[in-house]
Amino acid sequence: GDLDLAMTTNGVLLGRHAAALRAAGLDRMTVSLDGIDDATFRRASDSPFGVSAVLDGIDAAVEAGFPRVKVNAVVRRGINEDQVVPLVEHFRGSGHVLRFIEFMDVGSTNGWTGSEVVPAAEIRAAIEARWPVEELPPSRHGEVAQRLRLRDGSAEVGLISSMSSPFCDTCTRARLTADGRVHTCLFSSTGTDVRGLLRGSRRPGDLHTLLRRVWGGRDDRYSEVRSALTRRADAPVEMSYIGG
Ligand code: SF4
Repeated sequence: GDLDLAMTTNGVLLGRHAAALRAAGLDRMTVSLDGIDDATFRRASDSPFGVSAVLDGIDAAVEAGFPRVKVNAVVRRGINEDQVVPLVEHFRGSGHVLRFIEFMDVGSTNGWTGSEVVPAAEIRAAIEARWPVEELPPSRHGEVAQRLRLRDGSAEVGLISSMSSPFCDTCTRARLTADGRVHTCLFSSTGTDVRGLLRGSRRPGDLHTLLRRVWGGRDDRYSEVRSALTRRADAPVEMSYIGG
């Protein structure tokens, strides 16, 4: 009953599926959008879809009854850091929460280099240069974003500083991939299959027992020990596979 279910998506199929997802019990929707300029977005996301497809998806989520959509933008120096202010400008007054995420070394195919990380403090400074902001308290235990509000009340913006200020000690996120594996950390290389159990078990308590065991056994704190682990041989799971 108190399980908080959220999905992270590129949004392009929401027009078809948002209503069904809402009816199935999904609580929250997060859509990735790394820029509002179409050419920049396509370059940053390496996607055949343009900005308008994602914006249509956000509209579809609202229409399906998701109370407010979170919009995630991963900021990379030299790629899309000039999109911070335009994104805030676009979503001001929409009621959606815009969140800027430091570029992380998730997976092994995103070509991560430290030189492309734009620290959250720099993102905040860019926003503050245009609009006065005030800090908001965390919305709940396990909140990963530093919450800011434009002083005129027109927008809430979150800053996720996984690189410059890790928050593993309050991390409460388990992630379920589209093929039915539960990962207890964004950076884990293996997950636990639950699809087999869901399709094979007749006892409803089995899933609960499995999740309790998996979650109870976790000791993930990758971001906090990143420097020691970046040379490990096993490849972490890709961001596009695990969601945000
Ligand atoms: S690195 Fe893993 S444990 Fe740390 S905040 Fe990210 S998902 Fe949570």
